[in-house]
Amino acid sequence: MNTAAMSTGPAPWLLGPWQTLLERAAAGRLPGGLLVTGAEGTGKGWLVTAFLQRLYCDRASGLQPACGDCGGCRSLAGGVHPEVHEVMPPEPGKEIPVDAIRTASEFLGLSGSATWRVLRLHPAEAMNASAANALLKTLEEPPSGALAILESARPSALPATIRSRCQNLHLATPSLDQARAWLAGMTDDPGAVEAAWAAALGRPMTAAELLADPDRQAAWERDRDALTGLLRATDLHSVVPALMRCDPETLVPRLQALLLSAQRWLASGEMDRFGAQFPREDLQRFARERGARGMASLVQQSRQWQRQLRTTLNPQLRMEDMAAAMLPLTTPQRVAYGDRSGAY
Ligand SMILES: [Zn+2]
Repeated sequence: MNTAAMSTGPAPWLLGPWQTLLERAAAGRLPGGLLVTGAEGTGKGWLVTAFLQRLYCDRASGLQPACGDCGGCRSLAGGVHPEVHEVMPPEPGKEIPVDAIRTASEFLGLSGSATWRVLRLHPAEAMNASAANALLKTLEEPPSGALAILESARPSALPATIRSRCQNLHLATPSLDQARAWLAGMTDDPGAVEAAWAAALGRPMTAAELLADPDRQAAWERDRDALTGLLRATDLHSVVPALMRCDPETLVPRLQALLLSAQRWLASGEMDRFGAQFPREDLQRFARERGARGMASLVQQSRQWQRQLRTTLNPQLRMEDMAAAMLPLTTPQRVAYGDRSGAY
C-alpha cells in the first residue's frame, strides 16, 4: 500500500470526499459496499489508502490525516493489518479470479477485534464474471462490520448488480489550474511541474508521485531520451537498445501521446504540453516528413501497441516493431525488417 498518503493532507479536490468518508465512519454510517469511481490519476488509490490509515490510526481525530507512526498505521503500511484484506489482479491487466473473492468473503465473515473489517478491491472491473457473482453474494448480505471498498476508473464495466449494491463515491477530475497550483506547492521549479504534468499524461496524482520520486523521474528521462531517439532515427539498430531500457507500460502510452502531439501540431500549428517536452525541430520535422496520412496511420498503429501490452509478445520484437514503423519510409532497414517478419 502506498504510504505517501499518510504524511500529507488531501489534495483540494479530494477534500469533500475525504470529509464525507470520515463523517460517515464517525457516525457508524458506512455502507457494506462502497464504490469509489473517478478517472485514472484523480486519487482513488490515495483516498482509500488515506481513509484506511485514518480508520485504524490510534491517534488521529476529527478530520486529521493518520499519524503515520502508531501501531495501526505501521501495520497498514507494512501490508499486514489483520483487519484489511487487499485484492488485486495477479498481474496488471489480468483478471481477478473467483478464488480470490471467496477467500476475501471468508475473511470478511470472521469476527475481528476492530469495528470494521475491510476488503479493498482494485481495479474492481478486473473481476471475472464468477468473481463478481461471488462478491455479489457478500454484498447482498454483508457480515456485521464488513466493508468492501471497490475502486474503478471504468464502473460501466462492472455488472449493474454490483453497482446497485454499493454506495458510489465519485471523485471529480480537477481543473487544470487546480491541479497545477497543487503540484506547484511541491517544488520550487516551475519547469519540473510542466515536465511531471506531461510525463504523467495529465493525471494529477501520477504527476505528484513523479515529483516525489527520483526513480520515476529517471524513468521519464529514459523514456523521453528513447522517444527523442525515435524522432531522429534513420536505422533500427541505433534506437532499439534505448527502447529496451524503458518500461513498455510507461513508454507506449508516452509514445502514443507524442504521436498525437505531432499530429495536432501538423493540423493546427500549435504544440501541446506533451510535445513541448521534446526538441521542437525534431518533432516538427518528424511530423512534416510523414504528413497527415502517415501520422494518422502511426496513431492508429499505436493503439495496437497499447493493446499488445497485455500480451506475452517478446519485448525485443515489440520494440523492433514500433521502431520500424516510426522510421522514415525510405530507410533500407525498414524494408529488411519487413522481409524477415514472416519468420515469427
Ligand atoms: Zn496512526
